[in-house]
Amino acid sequence: MFNKEVDKRYKETMVKFIRNHFRYSTMNSWNRSTSYANNIKLYNIDKPQDVDNNTWYDMMNLSEWQEKLSDLLEDFGRRHEWQWQAGINGRSGGYVVLYNGGIKPSGYSSYCTHCGQKNYEAVSDIGICGRCNAKARVNFKQTHMQIFTFFGKETDMHEDFEDWTLSDLRERVELVQDFDRLCDSITAEYIGICKNYRITEEEILVPKTIKVLEPIGGD
Ligand SMILES: [Zn+2]
Repeated sequence: MFNKEVDKRYKETMVKFIRNHFRYSTMNSWNRSTSYANNIKLYNIDKPQDVDNNTWYDMMNLSEWQEKLSDLLEDFGRRHEWQWQAGINGRSGGYVVLYNGGIKPSGYSSYCTHCGQKNYEAVSDIGICGRCNAKARVNFKQTHMQIFTFFGKETDMHEDFEDWTLSDLRERVELVQDFDRLCDSITAEYIGICKNYRITEEEILVPKTIKVLEPIGGD
């Protein structure tokens, strides 16, 4: 378990917790910036007896698992209004790292309902899409937002927490605890999938791009 109890009544216990927390590079080792992190190298966590080795190692590369993992990371970001985000870093994606970021207007005003192409210009009526030529370009109803992440930015690397108030500290501890809980859910989820599913092979039809006729004027 990554998540630990912290006595949030005292400055010392909170500072001790955040200063002793595991850290990892936010980008790469030569960038030298680090942030709160956890080593979740999934093959390092205790494999339950009833899960076979192949499933345990292969599940990591399955797209279903990758999607589940992105959902968990995304939920964390949304919970913290994208000011804090969790991302995967390190060789073989073994570390979950806490990142700084935010959300801002993307600048896009309209988009094509047919192909999804976004455009900086607004349309007064339904416009023609510059990419697929369909008459399907409409304005965004709400300001279109974009999430950004400061991948190179450190968190509390040179912080001694001397001037921090109790409530500042509590807030930071709670953030790190929520991050630790996320890492616990990631490993729990992984174990759950490995226990309840097995990997089988299936033949699929691979989509291929071909040229077709489409009536001008969209659908
Ligand atoms: Zn289009």
